[in-house]
Amino acid sequence: MSTIIVTGGAGFIGSCFVRMAIATGKDNIVTLDKLTYAGCMDSLADATNSPRHTFIEGDIGDSSLVEEILQKYRPTAIVNFAAESHVDRSIDGPADFVETNVVGTFRLLDACLRYWSGLPNDRRDAFRFLQISTDEVYGSLGIEGRFTEETTYAPNSPYSASKAAADHFARAYHQTYGLPVLITNSSNNYGPYQLPEKLVPLMILAAAAGREMPVYGNGTNVRDWLFVEDHCRAIRTVLKSGRPGEVYNVGGDSERMNLAVVTTICQTVDRLLPGLPHGPCSGLIKFVADRPGHDQRYAVDAEKIRRQLGWRPRENFESGLEKTVRWYLDNPQWIKAVTARSPRSVAPGQCRLGLGAKQSD
Ligand code: NAD
Repeated sequence: MSTIIVTGGAGFIGSCFVRMAIATGKDNIVTLDKLTYAGCMDSLADATNSPRHTFIEGDIGDSSLVEEILQKYRPTAIVNFAAESHVDRSIDGPADFVETNVVGTFRLLDACLRYWSGLPNDRRDAFRFLQISTDEVYGSLGIEGRFTEETTYAPNSPYSASKAAADHFARAYHQTYGLPVLITNSSNNYGPYQLPEKLVPLMILAAAAGREMPVYGNGTNVRDWLFVEDHCRAIRTVLKSGRPGEVYNVGGDSERMNLAVVTTICQTVDRLLPGLPHGPCSGLIKFVADRPGHDQRYAVDAEKIRRQLGWRPRENFESGLEKTVRWYLDNPQWIKAVTARSPRSVAPGQCRLGLGAKQSD
């Protein structure tokens, strides 16, 4: 049986990957997560009961810990989800983004290179380092066009700049040393277990509770939405069939203006919770000052992964959103766990929420 190391596996997308791998796969999974405010053991509850899952609290930038883990578990692959991921936080304080996304990824690559160099030939050929990245590295689009794997990197926020730097290191470790690196650049994810600092859960919870729903600018910024399970299936596909050195864009073919996303959330909550005392949720929408450097439009051309690897999303935006809204309405205990604790009173390993209710992707 082979072992996959999943970094950042207590976060939104990483925990989905781990839950799916434990539920439907055969591999052993070792999760390495620093449990920052974004890491949540409650998101891994189903997986932690499995004998095929091991959780290790630690930093991807801790080279000696990573080397110890590599030598102990002898993985066939490592999937690097670990990152600071919130654009607004990167504007308020970029240093952590450089530390984890750039320096941490570099150290992780370097430790993997040492481990990989010592493997016998057949295991060297089979090894994979998959860097999970974002379409935000490509910058912003006008009304036309979509990002392809050939689009020049032009990051605009400290977050996307740090992810771009990490991708360049990942690419360089393949070009220079031959480490079998693959990179996926995905569009905006949504789905269960996403912290309510991000647009979709923030709006669902505000709508259900009758709180203001703050939308940046005039709400015309466009994102290309991808259901998180579809993203994780794409990652499995790339791990299994992707060619080392290649980049694969992953997108849901679901471009929506932010205001349209929020309006659909309002309609879904109105339908699922009829008779709310605050009336139709659309009355809660409030336009607020725009985010500095706010990218106008992202849209991903996912033709390469469709054509070459046969992946395609199973959910469209409406079906994925319906599942997501239902999940947030049905899981108040998870929401309580991630919102109840203040940043300073929290014990290690529990979720925290630092920023107030800003709308973000
Ligand atoms: P998240 O913020 O929900 O989770 C990040 C996880 O990484 C957390 O569990 C956190 O504790 C952990 N972590 C942070 N720093 C660490 C460190 N130094 N060492 C070990 N663990 C650390 O993020 P997410 O939304 O799940 O995103 C996962 C990855 O996917 C990120 O690399 C992000 O850039 C990328 N991505 C996200 C989206 C999206 O829409 N959320 C879209 C495209 C790409």
